[in-house]
Amino acid sequence: MAEILYGAAVSDALSEKLKQKTDALRQKGINPTLAIIRLGENESDLSYERGAKKKCEAVGINTNSIVLPETCSQEELISTVGNINSDKSIHGCLILRPLPDGIDERKVCETLSQEKDVDCITTRSLSAVFTESAEGYPPCTAEACIEILKHYGVELCGKLCVVIGRSLVIGKPVSMMLQSENATVIMCHSKTENLRELCLQADIIVCAIGRAGFLDDSFVSGKQTVIDVGINRSTDGKICGDVNYDSVEPSVKAITPVPGGVGRVTTTVLAKHLVEAAEKTAL
Ligand code: NAP
Repeated sequence: MAEILYGAAVSDALSEKLKQKTDALRQKGINPTLAIIRLGENESDLSYERGAKKKCEAVGINTNSIVLPETCSQEELISTVGNINSDKSIHGCLILRPLPDGIDERKVCETLSQEKDVDCITTRSLSAVFTESAEGYPPCTAEACIEILKHYGVELCGKLCVVIGRSLVIGKPVSMMLQSENATVIMCHSKTENLRELCLQADIIVCAIGRAGFLDDSFVSGKQTVIDVGINRSTDGKICGDVNYDSVEPSVKAITPVPGGVGRVTTTVLAKHLVEAAEKTAL
């Protein structure tokens, strides 16, 4: 039987520390505040916004939703981001994406100042992950994977990690972050020829490909810790990961569930970045 790496335990432990930090900031007269920019009333944006607000408020972070019409112009959106950059009462900003067609998303994202980029949407923040610079914050989901591994005391130094997926949001940054922890990392993708053999050798597998139940027990040999980043909807309408949990769980050392694994930690990492951004203003 595998150890189940529940996200809730990681999130609770992080939240406890964040609550103490926001209390300390308030005593210094700083109210940690996250701005959330949303265009229109898209249900997936609303759902993500509700989750982020709930988590932030639970740890003592104020949230300020700025809702623009779905038809707003690129200039109006850029000007809104500019106002957030110059507003000293706001410490971080979340822009709910994808943005509607006709808006140059990259241009809008690059407008946000790096100090307020708590969700790693600017190239400057992302390049900081690759240059191992202390500036900026890594993508929340990539950092959530590392937080889980550390919380459960999974040894990374010298271990072989196979990361499946090479997106800029997850695969690439998580590979760099694991490398920074002195793991030996193999980053795989859809053209990787011997994926099964590589996984069978791995100590840790991070699976982030967006294919429901892709990884089954033929990829594991009993020694692996498996981090399932996937969020998919199965044919019966249920949320499921990129890993076939029922097949893999009996044959690995440890595994994150979906739901209740990485996703549970992602918004807590967002809150952590916001608190760090607020703390920097107190220096
Ligand atoms: P993405 O941009 O579509 O990237 C998918 C990656 O998987 C690509 O690098 C692709 O390779 C690779 N891939 C696809 N099929 C493969 C296969 N058969 N074998 C090996 N590699 C394969 O996806 P993403 O944004 O990284 O998201 C990945 C998953 O994470 C999705 O399920 C998404 O819903 C989930 N997600 C979870 C959270 C969370 O908080 N838990 C947050 C964001 C996303 P190529 O580069 O060769 O095409």
